Amino acid sequence: MKNLPSLFASAVFTDKLMREKLPKDVYYRLKKTTERGEPLEINVANAVAIAMKDWAVEKGATHFTHWFQPMTGITAEKHDSFISPSGEGEIIMEFSGKALIKGEPDASSFPSGGLRATFEARGYTAWDPTSPAFIKEGVLCIPTAFCSYSGEVLDKKTPLLRSMEAINAQALRIVRLFGKTEVTSVGTTVGPEQEYFLIDKSVYDKRRDLVLCGRTIIGSKSPKGQELEDHYFGAIKPRVHAFMRELDEELWKLGIMAKTEHNEVAPGQHELAPIFTTTNIACDHNQLTMEMMKKIAAKHGMVCLLHEKPFAGVNGSGKHVNWSMSTNTGINLLEPGKSPKDNAQFLLFLAAVIKAVDEHADMLRVSVASAGNDHRLGANEAPPAIVSIFLGNELTGILDAIESGKPYDVEDTGPIKIGVSVLPDLPKDTTDRNRTSPFAFTGNKFEFRMLGSAASIAGPCIVLNTIVADVLSGFADKLEKANDLNAAVTDLVKNTYAQHKRIIFNGNSYSEEWVKEAQKRGLANMRTAAQALPCFKAEKNVALFSRHKVFTKAEVESRCELMLENYIKVLTIEAQTMINMCRREILPAATSYCAQLTKAALDKAALNADLPARYENDLVMKISKLIECLYNGVSQLDTALLHARDFEHAEECARYFSEAVFENMCLVREAADELEMNVAADYWPYPVYSEILFSV
Ligand code: ADP
Ligand code: MG
Repeated sequence: MKNLPSLFASAVFTDKLMREKLPKDVYYRLKKTTERGEPLEINVANAVAIAMKDWAVEKGATHFTHWFQPMTGITAEKHDSFISPSGEGEIIMEFSGKALIKGEPDASSFPSGGLRATFEARGYTAWDPTSPAFIKEGVLCIPTAFCSYSGEVLDKKTPLLRSMEAINAQALRIVRLFGKTEVTSVGTTVGPEQEYFLIDKSVYDKRRDLVLCGRTIIGSKSPKGQELEDHYFGAIKPRVHAFMRELDEELWKLGIMAKTEHNEVAPGQHELAPIFTTTNIACDHNQLTMEMMKKIAAKHGMVCLLHEKPFAGVNGSGKHVNWSMSTNTGINLLEPGKSPKDNAQFLLFLAAVIKAVDEHADMLRVSVASAGNDHRLGANEAPPAIVSIFLGNELTGILDAIESGKPYDVEDTGPIKIGVSVLPDLPKDTTDRNRTSPFAFTGNKFEFRMLGSAASIAGPCIVLNTIVADVLSGFADKLEKANDLNAAVTDLVKNTYAQHKRIIFNGNSYSEEWVKEAQKRGLANMRTAAQALPCFKAEKNVALFSRHKVFTKAEVESRCELMLENYIKVLTIEAQTMINMCRREILPAATSYCAQLTKAALDKAALNADLPARYENDLVMKISKLIECLYNGVSQLDTALLHARDFEHAEECARYFSEAVFENMCLVREAADELEMNVAADYWPYPVYSEILFSV
């Protein structure tokens, strides 16, 4: 490998490159846009476009694209070459400021959730100068936002940027109160840990469900799964190792700080964690990481499954969103720190997160709701669908002491005074960290663990940023009027904790007791996406997002509609695939095996009427019953799908899918899986779990 530092970000038009290649004044004016949000001047854009193009062409690029993140959850691109006629049949390579800052893809084929009906079909993409351009497979990719012509957002990046502005504005007010006048902006940082499966391409191709749905819809448990716990952090197989090395290298070129790669709990399951960065860039990077994982797996004869639950009976895949806030001067606002002044500030930000999560647990649940994730949440491998916070005993103890006005430590002499007492060294709890909590404080950041592996991190980040901004704005309103800041902060932390401590739970979130306890505490337990998604449109949430200019009412409603529609579509495809597999392959296979057994029994009888044929006869009975059962199940599922057309509203329809359709699918699966265990391997049309999970 080339020298790593020089390889790193070699495919990125970095800030350093811009400083080198742009005239000083142009660079300075560009910075005013990226750092202070000032409007971009066209002559600046022109200069940047030329520098960007020259660099890209030098690197072998021939095309450019506005790279954006529509609401499909994946990224979109439309390639244009740099060529431009220069007379006499010759061409020059050209790229203008106008082409850099604005593109006009046809918006009508991207999901808009109803916005399209009311507004023009055309859309436009606008350069996001805060995220650097990069080269991917000979194409200069320019990160952009995607909007409808009338300005309604049609993507995941715009609201994310808006939410970052919201939290910047509110957090700055607080930081200023603590005398940090040198701070000019506060951003959020994110490090998303990405889980995934790798399987061999040959087994994948034979599974219609994997090809069409990304997960197995039938399949009985492998005799060996993850029970020996021999995969987690185990030695990495050579093929996987080669994949990981190439992935790292490609990601490094793109400036993505891929850091940790290891095996996960389930056979065939792995994880990649990058070093954290600004939320907006972390989001772009995670999208690129997922794309690269798929591409590089293919080069190694494998398929990367990003689905939240590709296999029943072994762990699904999640994406842990590690989140914090930090100032442009490099202070992590969730770092407990050592000095009293920082303690007070820390406790205030901590209280803000606690209040935000308690008040808007519904929105956090919405942000991770999807058909795929329904199989994970609450399945004793991932956090439950109940949102709660793990703080650890130390911090909980401190907050309890503040609330009760009693000393924290037995050796302490007086009650805790915020801003005077120094926090004890908090364990960074790497050893005994609580892995069952959906939202865990892990030393200097929160780790939100409910998101599924396939989703963009934009959703939960938008919600986190906005809900914390909302609480901070309330805090700032109070504190800015206070005469005695210290006393006011103490009061605020104390009262906030008293009002919202029901959201804190340090125990085992996977336990049945917690489900009961949470119910007593009045915490919501929305088990399915169909239950959770409609909360998005609740008046409280529309008000929240409008207040911080993250989503308009129309945008909330369209997004909610879109997520519900997506849920319905996914379940429809899965049900149809299931029917298809059963009718075209599983039932015929089981029937011909049955016929074979019947023939064998008859042959025996012909040979000698006294020869027993118990094996054949018993099995014929058993399989015949299962065939009947599967046949009925499939017919019922078919009917259930037909009924689904009767629903006018997505909300009711989604609910119907989560109940009736899903239940039918479970019945079909049960019969199909039982057949799989009884039909001879030669007859079975698909590779089974043991073959798939251990295929690499
Ligand atoms: P784990 O033990 O859960 O694997 P690590 O401590 O290795 O966790 O960190 C997980 C992720 O958290 C990494 O991506 C890391 O970069 C990220 N992280 C660390 N500090 C911060 C922070 N201040 N803000 C956001 N993410 C962070
Ligand atoms: Mg983690």
